[in-house]
Amino acid sequence: MSNRKPIWHDSHVLALARSQGISDPEEAIKSLCKTLIDETGSCGPPIKPEILASFRGVDAIRRVPMKEAGRLIPVRDGFEIEVNSSHTAEKQNFSINHEVCHTFFAEFSSRQTKTDWETGVFNAELEEEFLCDVGASALLFDPRWFRPAAINLGVASKSVFELSGQFTGSLEAITRALCDLDLWPCAVVFWEESIKPKQSHLIFQNALPGLEDVKDNLSRLRVKLSWHSPSFKGVHYFPKHKSALEDGLVVSCLSSHTATAGYELVDSPCQRLWMDSVYVPYRKDGNLCPRVMTVATLSEKPQHHAL
Ligand SMILES: [Zn+2]
Repeated sequence: MSNRKPIWHDSHVLALARSQGISDPEEAIKSLCKTLIDETGSCGPPIKPEILASFRGVDAIRRVPMKEAGRLIPVRDGFEIEVNSSHTAEKQNFSINHEVCHTFFAEFSSRQTKTDWETGVFNAELEEEFLCDVGASALLFDPRWFRPAAINLGVASKSVFELSGQFTGSLEAITRALCDLDLWPCAVVFWEESIKPKQSHLIFQNALPGLEDVKDNLSRLRVKLSWHSPSFKGVHYFPKHKSALEDGLVVSCLSSHTATAGYELVDSPCQRLWMDSVYVPYRKDGNLCPRVMTVATLSEKPQHHAL
């Protein structure tokens, strides 16, 4: 993982790692996930979260209206899971797998309801939450099948859609798993129109006469989320809130709703990258949110790692 924790403190996390005879908790949770998949007899994607959950003593999965992403509820002989019914099916899959991973920790702590406002944020400060995200990814994208599928498809935006279909994962989760594999130097960037956080106070002045255009002038297509393969990070990094090149291919993709691809010069540091962009809007609270996903690589046809 790109933001691997060097030191672990949580006693439950350390106990889980010890139980597996593995010093690195991240490797321990991945090992538990691999064993769980094997127990279900799965022989390839998609690996249904409902089946994985049933093998962990989850009696019921309820898709309900809720503000949170998911919840694991201990019951007399096992668990129940509630997941946010307004999320996409792919996001729900990740959240269910996240809750399934909490059942591993339940063996080392008191059985309390776990409520997750968010899943998939990989917050390294919250060790159990981080590891449940790592586990959710490992359950959805078992490298025994994900790695060869990714190599076969190559690094491109159309590959992301193909992998999403095969592995029933969201674009965000698929692209993170793809970058973590580090098959090629690549980055995946999700762009949305926004203003810089430090300029947000200026929006309040927007209502003043003569300042109606302030928001429009400050709003740019900016990095909302980005994943980088370890081998890409040494070349270039897309920080959050970085704006897309004005009149560039990414902006063109947003305005035309049409896929764009070509070389583009990016700065800080200056680098010539192949930018493969697609328009991928999503819905939030019923509203359509425009968004662009870019797969950035060093060349049009990245070299494969040794297979
Ligand atoms: Zn959680």
